[in-house]
Amino acid sequence: CGIVGYIGSNQAVSVLLNGLEKLEYRGYDSAGIATLTEGSLDIYKVKGRIQALKDQIDSNIEAELGIGHTRWATHGEPSEANAHPHQSQSGKFTLVHNGVIENYQEIKEEFLTGVTLKSDTDTEIIVHLIERLFSDVEDVLVAFQKAMSLLKGSYAIALIDRENPDLIYVAKNKSPLLVGLGQGFNLVASDAMATLRETDTYLEIEDKEIVLVSRDNVSIQKLDGTKVIRDSYVAEIDP
Ligand code: GLU
Repeated sequence: CGIVGYIGSNQAVSVLLNGLEKLEYRGYDSAGIATLTEGSLDIYKVKGRIQALKDQIDSNIEAELGIGHTRWATHGEPSEANAHPHQSQSGKFTLVHNGVIENYQEIKEEFLTGVTLKSDTDTEIIVHLIERLFSDVEDVLVAFQKAMSLLKGSYAIALIDRENPDLIYVAKNKSPLLVGLGQGFNLVASDAMATLRETDTYLEIEDKEIVLVSRDNVSIQKLDGTKVIRDSYVAEIDP
């Protein structure tokens, strides 16, 4: 399973598809991507191979922002409905997740009464939780921080907000995720192998950190909002 996210020039689709192919070795049963272009959010998902996803997507689509996922099912069978990305009810939030949310039942019972789930995954509750918290605080970052502090288990998450084409929200706990730094773009990936074509410069993310990734800036903070300063490193792997 794996995650790729990209924000920058109009190359998002090719970076995501290439990255997901490079993550195939990690094993997966389904795959999907979400792209955001001029306020329009598009989701493509398939059960099976990345090639099937490629066949579904017009390679000329120009998107400056996108997130992609290969899934290794833990909750819910491999199917198109259970494939990521998953979306909140209003469509404002879309996310991909690797890992296992141990308290998803509790979260569902405490926060999501009245929400109709479209999948059998533990992941889907995260995106609804963010929307529910957002409706209280009306601040995406605060809602994201609160949601992450309620989760128990393992996660690497990339979230996009349909109303904000300038940011990918990222969080991690016990599942791998890195930030890749570029000129005029930035990205996230489970493994530097996925994006060596784009960059060799990476930033580590530690457990229980949140990262805000924009075209020309990356800022890391702890769940309580404390800023974190970290140096990047150059990945020494032959592409
Ligand atoms: N637990 C999630 C699911 O079953 C994510 C699995 C993964 O890491 O790919 O959908």
